[in-house]
Amino acid sequence: MRKQIVAGNWKMNTTVPEGVALAKEVAAKAKNLPANVELVVAPPFTHLCSVAEALKGSCVGLSAQNCADKEKGAYTGEVAVDMLVSAGCNYTILGHSERRQYYGETDEKLVEKTKLALSAGLKVILCVGENLDEREAGKHFEIVEGQTKAVLFNFTAEDMKNIVIAYEPVWAIGTGKTATAEQAEEIHACIRKVLASKFGAQVADDTTILYGGSCKPSNAKELFAQPDIDGGLIGGASLKADDFIAIALAF
Ligand code: PEP
Repeated sequence: MRKQIVAGNWKMNTTVPEGVALAKEVAAKAKNLPANVELVVAPPFTHLCSVAEALKGSCVGLSAQNCADKEKGAYTGEVAVDMLVSAGCNYTILGHSERRQYYGETDEKLVEKTKLALSAGLKVILCVGENLDEREAGKHFEIVEGQTKAVLFNFTAEDMKNIVIAYEPVWAIGTGKTATAEQAEEIHACIRKVLASKFGAQVADDTTILYGGSCKPSNAKELFAQPDIDGGLIGGASLKADDFIAIALAF
């Protein structure tokens, strides 16, 4: 049975002390969660070591928000996968729409980053999703299918055990507009079909596919009740421990 995951993307928010306090609160409140729900937090790079320490002994996983597309060396300002592992990460988010939109992240770069992350032992949360123009032009299936294939068709069924997909319609991120449960479900089902066409039905069935985009305690229940939605990648609402935990309790 595939894993249910709720991951919090803190983006460029909180100072180190604020992040440590938030992580401690999440870890303390995560004790009451059902065993089949995995919680993950993704703080900024600067917080990783301190947050890893704060999460010690808890069941909360630690993710980076990005990684370098090179192994090491003269790449000023970049953070390599080995550094993330040594800081205590077990996941990294890749291909978030903000990285694609503001930092020129291409599918080609994401293939390199995913290869490095997997080889270092990190699990990858790969984000895909259409923007508003693409949705209004009726191209959402095509875009999501294209992004999924462009990155994941370079990997094996074995690699897929360590890859989670997050469907995040760009028009729903940080806007307060959530995709309806039906809109999200039809894309999730489509992603699963794409995975089945390459890796077979078992891999498709075992892959965790998260929804992201203005997910909050009030709408998580309906979204997570959909057969192909296995949890959420949460931005804004992950900055409040009570909201984040309430989302995880929505399963
Ligand atoms: C995100 O950026 O991954 C996200 C889902 O943000 P929000 O929940 O704030 O829409």
